[in-house]
Amino acid sequence: IMCGLEKVKKEIKDAEIVFGKKHGLTNLIAVSKTKPMEQIKKVINKGQIHFGENRVQEALSKWEVVKRNRKDLKIHLLGPLQTNKVKKVFSLFDYIHSLDRLNLAEKLSREAQEKGYCPKIFVQVNTGKEEQKSGVFPENLYDFINSSQKTYELDVVGLMCIPPINEKPEKHFGLLRDLANDNGLKELSMGMSADYKIAIKYDSTFIRIGTAIFGEREK
Ligand SMILES: *Cc1c(COP(=O)(O)O)cnc(C)c1O
Repeated sequence: IMCGLEKVKKEIKDAEIVFGKKHGLTNLIAVSKTKPMEQIKKVINKGQIHFGENRVQEALSKWEVVKRNRKDLKIHLLGPLQTNKVKKVFSLFDYIHSLDRLNLAEKLSREAQEKGYCPKIFVQVNTGKEEQKSGVFPENLYDFINSSQKTYELDVVGLMCIPPINEKPEKHFGLLRDLANDNGLKELSMGMSADYKIAIKYDSTFIRIGTAIFGEREK
């Protein structure tokens, strides 16, 4: 019987074939938030490289030691980032998926100059223009990316979105893909346990899967 990780990997492969994508286009981020390192280690031992966490503090306490011995592992910050935690994220994260405002871009930029390196950045887009959700509105994206790259010299690699829960994701994935194309960005962080096959259809390059790998999270 296949474990969650194996099943997801097989379904990614199948979806790439069905939708005519290049094999290996889709990177899998195993979202390990709330899960103990004991359980995560089983997934590391199966060869998984990309892991996602939502909270800076939780991520640091779980991953700092593990990552020190496994520099090849890539850790992604998926959740919101407060400006006062910017220093801390540089010590662990390889990717930040939640750049959503210019004062955060400025803080990241300053820290990058000090450290001499910077995590790769996804700009979060609020494709559904939901009030309770963070992310740049589509109509402001061009200027936002321009400032992030030119003024703040950040390594913006792509766009990220979380579609509204009560809507079909297709429209949002399609919009994010178009916005990335328009802005010359290569990577698309979209697709979660419930909708990752659809995300692959829309050229996602980083899908973020928690439940389908690790099981339900406790509330
Ligand atoms: C928790 C989370 C995920 C994973 O969600 P699942 O439905 O468990 O796959 C993906 N992206 C973000 C931003 C998350 O917070």
